[in-house]
Amino acid sequence: MKIIGIRYRFILAILILPFVFSMITMLSSRMEVRHVYNILPVFIGSNSSILTGGSAAMQRGVFIFISPSQFDDEEIIQHELIHVKRYYRTLSFSCWASLFSQKYLADVEAEAYILMAKSPKDFDWIAKMIREEYAPNVDKEYIINCLETHWASRR
Ligand SMILES: [Zn+2]
Repeated sequence: MKIIGIRYRFILAILILPFVFSMITMLSSRMEVRHVYNILPVFIGSNSSILTGGSAAMQRGVFIFISPSQFDDEEIIQHELIHVKRYYRTLSFSCWASLFSQKYLADVEAEAYILMAKSPKDFDWIAKMIREEYAPNVDKEYIINCLETHWASRR
């Protein structure tokens, strides 16, 4: 039997993953649908089985999975919604680029963690945390620059 080519495996993964994620969302103990940009749906499921390494939440495409104990934590949800917005805005590019570039990932996280900054004084510890958690190979100065950009464009 001929093994399917790499291109078909890629297409298969793109087709199957949303299906798997929607199944996990539906099987979650709690589920919620929200919208970003007024009309674009986001599916939020309370499910810890998919979360690894003790993380509180995870975003994949238009799906957000949150550990049941933190399902009502609006701060976490808002953080993940920012990721989903970027996912829509970049037509899914952000999800692929984050896998391959730590610099891009650092910028994606800076965009979401800007919510935690009360003033630019907080940039230092946020950049340090992003570097430790997500992007150890990226300069702290670069992350601070990202934070400054997102701070300037926040609403
Ligand atoms: Zn994040």
